[in-house]
Amino acid sequence: MLKLQNISKQFDGKTVLDDISFEIGSGEIMSLLGPSGSGKTTLLHLILGLTGADQGSIVFGDENLTRVPMKKRGFNIVFQDYALFPNLNAYDNIVYGLRNQKGAASDKEVQEYIDFLELTPHLNKRIGELSGGQKQRVALARTLVTKPKILLLDEPLSALDGVIKESIKQRIQSIAREFKLTTIIVTHDPEEALTLSDQILIINQGKIAQFGSPQEIINQPENEFVEQFIIKQL
Ligand code: ATP
Repeated sequence: MLKLQNISKQFDGKTVLDDISFEIGSGEIMSLLGPSGSGKTTLLHLILGLTGADQGSIVFGDENLTRVPMKKRGFNIVFQDYALFPNLNAYDNIVYGLRNQKGAASDKEVQEYIDFLELTPHLNKRIGELSGGQKQRVALARTLVTKPKILLLDEPLSALDGVIKESIKQRIQSIAREFKLTTIIVTHDPEEALTLSDQILIINQGKIAQFGSPQEIINQPENEFVEQFIIKQL
């Protein structure tokens, strides 16, 4: 269980996140959905521990993480641009940073993640030789081998199209189910959030517009913004 309570954040005197509270269960997929500039990435970075909150608390299980630094939090992220090393092959990217990391995957577990993501035929290829979907799978494997307690994904589908997008969507869902891994996804696309997640947190100008399941959001939009943002873009 991850619980955020009354989180607020300002940059240069401007409130970017305003009194954000929500709770998600273990193994659930939650989307952070909102228009550009609404505060999604800031909230994701706050959960990761890359940025500190000005107010509020972050609790995971029975641990208060509010002041725990990123490295000790045990969460991990796949960045939007994947941040892979172009000079290394896929395998070396996946295991980079595993050495001496406490709690990371054993060789056998690394192989299991590689099998799960069907990466064996691509392990010796350099990053430049991989397709967008293959790069995303390498980035997912590199993050999964650190055995994060929460998986954070920043716009994981935005660079992909058509069939590849659908296949990565299904993989994200099967990762969350198979490894019972709480997963938080940033997206600006209502269709993605509605088809991918168990819960959706819609934010607008740093405030929660609605938090609920896809069904609740479609059937009972709580305000005009949600109605417009969801219906207009579907
Ligand atoms: P996008 O979908 O365009 O990435 P977003 O919803 O992820 O947007 P954020 O990147 O979280 O939004 O930004 C929210 C607001 O905070 C914006 O007004 C942005 O300019 C501001 N902001 C974000 N990071 C910083 C920073 N380090 N310093 C100052 N302002 C920032």
